[in-house]
Amino acid sequence: MTYRGGCFCGAVRYVCAGPVIDVGYCHCSICRKLSGAPVMAWMSVPRDSLQFTTGKPAAFASSPVGIRQFCVICGTHLAFHRPSGAEI
Ligand SMILES: [Zn+2]
Ligand SMILES: [Zn+2]
Repeated sequence: MTYRGGCFCGAVRYVCAGPVIDVGYCHCSICRKLSGAPVMAWMSVPRDSLQFTTGKPAAFASSPVGIRQFCVICGTHLAFHRPSGAEI
């Protein structure tokens, strides 16, 4: 199954061919602050299966072990990965 999505304003779009490793909610303090909600929903996939097809997200280190990607125009949080390559 192919998943497509993107940010609120449409400047960044992605496609993901999967496979989906896991889905769930994270309620850590970083996800809560970035989303402004009690939990953030996640779908975990192999890093190479996620391709940005329109635009390029900006990135910042939200912790010593994680990089977050977001749209610089509308601020939508799009992805998280570990620079170590570990999948989550
Ligand atoms: Zn956007
Ligand atoms: Zn979290």
